[in-house]
Amino acid sequence: MSVQQINVLKGLIILKQLKNDNAANRASYVGYVYNIGESKHKEDILNSLPKEWSNLHRNGYIHIHDLDAYDLTYNCLTIDLTKIFPYQNYLDYNDFNKLIAIFSYIKELLTNLGNEQSGGMAFVNFDNEIALILDKLNIDINKNDRLIRSLILDFIIWCNNNHTRMGQTSYYITLNVGLASNDNARYICKVLLEEFYNSSETIIKPNIVFKVKTKINLEKDTKNHNLLELALKCTSKKMIPTYLLCDCKEDKEFDPYKLSIMGCRTRVVSDIFGSIGAVGRGNICNISINLPRLALEVKRENNNILDNKKLEKLFICKWDTLATLVKDILLDRFYKLCKNTKDNFPTNMSYQLWCEDFVSKDLFDIFKHGTLSIGFIGLSEAIEVLTKKKYYSDKENYNLAISIIKHMRKYCDELIKKYNLNFSLLATSGELISGRFIEYDKREFAEQKIFKKDYYTNSFHVDVDSNFPGFKKLEIEGPFHEYCNGGSISYLELGEAPLANIEGLLEYVNIAIKNNVHYLGFNFPKDICKKCGNSGIFDICPICGSTDITRIRRVSGYLEILDGFTAGKKAEEKNRRSN
Ligand SMILES: [Zn+2]
Repeated sequence: MSVQQINVLKGLIILKQLKNDNAANRASYVGYVYNIGESKHKEDILNSLPKEWSNLHRNGYIHIHDLDAYDLTYNCLTIDLTKIFPYQNYLDYNDFNKLIAIFSYIKELLTNLGNEQSGGMAFVNFDNEIALILDKLNIDINKNDRLIRSLILDFIIWCNNNHTRMGQTSYYITLNVGLASNDNARYICKVLLEEFYNSSETIIKPNIVFKVKTKINLEKDTKNHNLLELALKCTSKKMIPTYLLCDCKEDKEFDPYKLSIMGCRTRVVSDIFGSIGAVGRGNICNISINLPRLALEVKRENNNILDNKKLEKLFICKWDTLATLVKDILLDRFYKLCKNTKDNFPTNMSYQLWCEDFVSKDLFDIFKHGTLSIGFIGLSEAIEVLTKKKYYSDKENYNLAISIIKHMRKYCDELIKKYNLNFSLLATSGELISGRFIEYDKREFAEQKIFKKDYYTNSFHVDVDSNFPGFKKLEIEGPFHEYCNGGSISYLELGEAPLANIEGLLEYVNIAIKNNVHYLGFNFPKDICKKCGNSGIFDICPICGSTDITRIRRVSGYLEILDGFTAGKKAEEKNRRSN
């Protein structure tokens, strides 16, 4: 093959990857150039790392998330607007201009920050924050109801439609709400949920997280219970909000006002440097480990061993070896990040978003509050390879699964002591890697039962085609949440939109809390006719007969348009069975 032919082939492969990696992105000149630069930079990063590390990523043992940001920036951040809002700038304005200014300020902040870090941005108590700003600016809510509603709807549409991140995609924005502590905050929460509920069917952003807490909104006689009911009504139509369950084992000792979900599941709470909670902190970087690969290797080398205890030992030994290298990569990345100059973070410099003074402190002293996470994918397939049975098929196998996850968490806790940084264990969502890992393994290993699908199962989740009733799924997955202190979610797959079945959804929320689920989402298939706007589940619109259908599904933490899914995600979606 000539050099020219090879280059053409490379070009085609890159184009294919671009299509797969960013299928949901809009094509634009800036986006196109960005994608080419991103690919090049990823390759340069891999080439600059020791071969032993880069080969792990290249060969599908691990996935280094946001590889292009390796030495440039951190992942995500949770913000408290009230701490940074420049109230004095707007005191002389009239109400109309104050309100316009507030939302312009937020959009500008998100646009700037969203292009300065690789991942999401969250507001810790969006309802309380907006209410406090309105209060400090002496804005009378009653007199401005219509304007506030329009501005909140406009903000929702902006979050959904604005594609200026990297010149092509929308921003990952999460609004945590539900603990509204006065009437004005309750009003903001209510308006946000109502406007999201009433917004067009194809509006799938921002991510709204409703925080559920006893004595605040869980019980019928609590002040915010009507907001929880409204949230559930909204979920029954739009799959948003999802639910942060502040009374689960993992979260209940912490101040719920400081808890937040960042993006699709990231959890940042404990801090060995004292800034407990999510505000002004985020995840720095994370790497996910391909668990099925390790199990396949154990089996290939020890096919005759059938005893669970022995298999566990062999598996953990392999995981430890790999995790040691993963830890080295995370540390390398962290220290390289800290070697940047402040010029790389103009938004953080001007807005002061981190919990430390960004102007006067060293980058190390700022970013040390962030987390370094070790993630995992495919616990279900790994156990199936080791024992030929699902991890939830009997007690013995279930104990094996718990024991492995417990070990992984213990390992992360030991890293904290040893390296004096905030390591955590992350229950990784599928994202691009659900299909990526299995592709590599199919090439490397002989035919396996787990290869019948084209993806590995999300973190510790039961298989999407398991057919368990909802309560059973929560019972099985619940105990894993407390070990995954870097973030986790359980989903309930519903056959169709549970329209207005608030009681039913509330029952699931209660069952989830009982089972120590930390974060809960409801999924159901949703097809929208592009011609007449009708929604339901169909290939041909029952109203107008059109076959031009938009499919909205949640596969890896965010709602997405199905046409944009990568092959692995599509296959997973196809196999889903309701709970
Ligand atoms: Zn139609």
